[in-house]
Amino acid sequence: MKRNYFCPQCNVTLNPSTKLILRVTKGTQNGLVLFSPQPGNYNAIWSPELRLSQGERVSLFCPVCQADLRFETDDRFARIGFNTASGMTGQVLFSRTLGEHATYFVTKETIRSYGEAASQSISLNFFGERRDLG
Ligand SMILES: [Zn+2]
Repeated sequence: MKRNYFCPQCNVTLNPSTKLILRVTKGTQNGLVLFSPQPGNYNAIWSPELRLSQGERVSLFCPVCQADLRFETDDRFARIGFNTASGMTGQVLFSRTLGEHATYFVTKETIRSYGEAASQSISLNFFGERRDLG
């Protein structure tokens, strides 16, 4: 199913082509990252200037409005919006730590998790946020 991902701040489409594009920073480093729009696919393309290691936590931003995509309830995660052609809409929460594969697709009805680190890293706060969604 084709998913459209968007910035929660300015609503710009983040996957205009086959990849999802975000700005990434770590300390003084600045670059872009391309993610697969397919849940559970963690193959990402990073700007070659970036010198990052597994286990490092990066900051992610909308490439258009520069909104910080950090998830306020649990800042281990970044948050973007998604919707589908069938009218489903919700949020995607994913780990900001390199190599930590944890992604959640959250709608009013369900939470679907992807990645081997997903179950361990979820918190009660995280589920609490669910009531405020939509
Ligand atoms: Zn934006």
